[in-house]
Amino acid sequence: MEFLNNLNSINDFNEAKQVIAGGVNSPVRAFKSVGGTPPFIREGRGAYLIDEDGNKYIDFVQSWGPLIFGHSDEYIQEMVLHTLKKGLSFGAPTTLETALAKEIIALYEGIDKIRFVSSGTEATMSAIRLARAYTKKDDIIKFEGCYHGHSDSLLVNAGSGLATFGNPSSLGVPQDFVKHTLVAHYNDITSVELCIKESEKSGNGVACVIIEPIAGNMGLVPTTKEFLKDLRDLCNQHNIVLIMDEVMSGFRAALNGSQNFYGVYGDLVTFGKVIGGGMPVGAFGGIEEIMSLLSPNGAVYQAGTLSGNPVAMSAGLATLEKLKQNPKIYQNLESLALQLTEGLQNIAQEFSIPLQVCVRGSMFGFFFNENPVNNFKDAQKSDTEMFAKFHQGMLQKGIYLAPSQFESGFICSCMDEDLIQSVLERAREVILEISNYER
Ligand SMILES: *Cc1c(COP(=O)(O)O)cnc(C)c1O
Repeated sequence: MEFLNNLNSINDFNEAKQVIAGGVNSPVRAFKSVGGTPPFIREGRGAYLIDEDGNKYIDFVQSWGPLIFGHSDEYIQEMVLHTLKKGLSFGAPTTLETALAKEIIALYEGIDKIRFVSSGTEATMSAIRLARAYTKKDDIIKFEGCYHGHSDSLLVNAGSGLATFGNPSSLGVPQDFVKHTLVAHYNDITSVELCIKESEKSGNGVACVIIEPIAGNMGLVPTTKEFLKDLRDLCNQHNIVLIMDEVMSGFRAALNGSQNFYGVYGDLVTFGKVIGGGMPVGAFGGIEEIMSLLSPNGAVYQAGTLSGNPVAMSAGLATLEKLKQNPKIYQNLESLALQLTEGLQNIAQEFSIPLQVCVRGSMFGFFFNENPVNNFKDAQKSDTEMFAKFHQGMLQKGIYLAPSQFESGFICSCMDEDLIQSVLERAREVILEISNYER
């Protein structure tokens, strides 16, 4: 196998490790599960990343989703520059916040009011606080394999029983902090019913269910329409707030995220990633009745020094403007995603390697797995060694995939059929190398 020269990245990583914990500011960036040294990025142009050694990669991560128009989009940069020349932050209201809120509300059914924060983590944390205040109940339900940021009460693994309160999945999270979090199985409505029963028996009931309607954090695993509808009904019956976490799927799977696929609406919706166009932005929104409980009108406290930051708002606004001007974009991105995943599946088949693939709009996922993946347990049966080899091989050939099988991949508008074709040709070489090695 040929190897890229990555001496600069190796040096940069070593230097970073001297002053930054683990050398990175978000753990998956360290490439621990695939091995090797993460390329240190010098710049991004369209579909490409260029690292500190001058290697060029086709980028299927796109900053983990935000960059639907690729790197260094001219219009978005212009809008950002225009705003930042007038000041970086005021800690006072600006009309840009109203403008971005209006755009989101116009596209999403069931959202009356919005509030902006600086990350997806803050958005889900605040939405849960609101739901608890609104229902005057304490317990929450999340699904195994869904990720909603790193706030304490969401860092839980499923317990051992059928419907149990979770265990902390991180050191530093006291059992007491997660004793109100129940963990259900994705796409399994019976498990949700059991959690509700358990909560109503042992406590004062469930305040909210939080779900990624299109999960992108255990690989790409969508809900079934039937499951999501049943979940909505169940929440109605038990006075439970349904929180749709669309931090990743919002404006990524479709302009109106999961609503396009399911027609099922949450009481609260959380956003991030694309609505910030590459800047740090999160948001949560929902029906008036719930949102009116937020301080300063209501008694639910929530705040942020840089919330609704003007530069970040203008990056988001520019992104949404471009998306609206280009109504065919999701169809185009989806057909590229299908070309990629179907191509990969054909290649895998040729070498008798089991591969499951999935596409939702501009999001794609693949698992080296014998069986269809409908939940976290299915996903966990995937071959991680095979993925690590595939990832390393692709990186050597100039293709930058998420350094874990349990992440979603992203197509950006700077990609085209020829580019995907060239990726498939390289993927075929990598799989050939892997299968020779296996024999
Ligand atoms: C990325 C993500 C988050 C967390 O957002 P951060 O901005 O990283 O805090 C929450 N929920 C989902 C579904 C996400 O994909």
